[in-house]
Amino acid sequence: METIDIIKSQNDFFNSNQTKDIGFRIKQLKKIKFLLKDNEKLLFKAIYKDFGKSKFETYVSEFALIYHEINTAVKNLKKWSQFKKVGTSLVNFPAKSYIIPEPLGTILVIGAWNYPYQLSLLPAISAIAAGNTVVLKPSELPLHTSNVMATLINNAFNSNYFYVKEGGISVATALLELRFDKIFFTGSSAVGRKIYLAAAKHLTPVTLELGGKSPTFVFSDTDIKTTAKRIAWAKFLNAGQTCVAPDYILVEQKAEERFIHALKEELNKYPKKHQDFSDNYTQIINTANFDRLKDLIDNSTICYGGSTDRNTRFISPTILKNVSFNDKIMEDEIFGPILPIIIFTDIDLAIQEIKKRPKPLACYIYSKNKETIKKILHEISFGGGAINESIMQLSNSNLPFGGVGFSGMGSYHAKAGFDTFSHYKSILHKPFWFESSLKYAPYSNKKMNWIKRLME
Ligand code: NAD
Repeated sequence: METIDIIKSQNDFFNSNQTKDIGFRIKQLKKIKFLLKDNEKLLFKAIYKDFGKSKFETYVSEFALIYHEINTAVKNLKKWSQFKKVGTSLVNFPAKSYIIPEPLGTILVIGAWNYPYQLSLLPAISAIAAGNTVVLKPSELPLHTSNVMATLINNAFNSNYFYVKEGGISVATALLELRFDKIFFTGSSAVGRKIYLAAAKHLTPVTLELGGKSPTFVFSDTDIKTTAKRIAWAKFLNAGQTCVAPDYILVEQKAEERFIHALKEELNKYPKKHQDFSDNYTQIINTANFDRLKDLIDNSTICYGGSTDRNTRFISPTILKNVSFNDKIMEDEIFGPILPIIIFTDIDLAIQEIKKRPKPLACYIYSKNKETIKKILHEISFGGGAINESIMQLSNSNLPFGGVGFSGMGSYHAKAGFDTFSHYKSILHKPFWFESSLKYAPYSNKKMNWIKRLME
């Protein structure tokens, strides 16, 4: 079937009202979970083929989140879908007022490659929980994961409800010509802009989950050893190919030496050459990204690592020191296992530098000083973050996940995901037993004064 016909069939299925039934939605969510559980081996194998991602990392950073998202939706769906009573203004007396969440219709989800399962499936799960039909276009870069998702989902679900369309830019561009009720995009800010433009043609609302340079502050009063451990894990997980990874470090001058020493000690546990490659470390997704990253390594600034191998697309965890905000590595999101360290002495100047740049997706603060933490949270706008931790904010589904400004618009995960794919319909409900003459002609000053008393 042509994609346009699939979308038409999804519109028809949506209009049959079957997806509005909560029991139906819960059944579909459970079906997705069983489908993934039954095929975990295949799914692990596919991602390993794509970029050497191990079973452990795949489970922890993809499937654990997906299963948790499904469980949360199944558990809370009845509560989330209830209409919510709100107060009624005196001018409308007697009446009830309430808000009804309703699904939007047919959703297009466009995924990114770095966590190919969760970045495609979490939004699809939220869209299904909210009662929509879904067309999913995963990233084409991890070919095996894209294939396995398409095969499993398209065999298990009717295309008029949940359909995976594989392909790259041309397929995405063709999909964007068609009208959807919402587009949920994860990817770069540059492509995000194109999605926004294409959506405008049909006045389609969008959620954009984009990238950016996420600063990580390390203050001298922090627990340096644990800070280095947590930052190393967050930065080098998935070989740095994580949208919310610490992009660069801003370390207080007096802590620099101790911090770098602790970081090196921690990184001694990681592979140093491609021959040491193991299940604990991931490849770079493709040679284009390998070349881009290798170009960013200025040999004069390497203070740890810097080993690369193009054949295996391996870049060892690399620390760069004596970096300044004007260096090339500070121009764009790094999205790889290279960690530049910038020293600061004046926190206000460091904050000013961040504020000159696009709003980051994440920000991390390592300090025990409440005033310092409060100051940074108060002065810098960013999508979300953590204090004395990095990345783990994502594993708390009570925290909506999303960017701000250049790092994105809108959010998802659990209830925030349900809200993203719902419209909140406001209703005023009046009985017939009382009719005030206040709003009707003939108008008079007396009536006006009454209205003023009620409204002002
Ligand atoms: P990308 O923007 O290149 O691609 C994302 C998706 O858009 C893919 O499915 C791709 O096929 C499609 N696409 C690419 N060019 C297109 C075009 N011209 N028109 C229409 N569609 C097009 O991003 P990527 O390389 O897959 O991912 C890396 C970026 O994504 C990084 O910037 C990263 O920070 C960001 N990211 C953000 C999040 C988040 O949740 N905020 C998560 C992961 C990645």
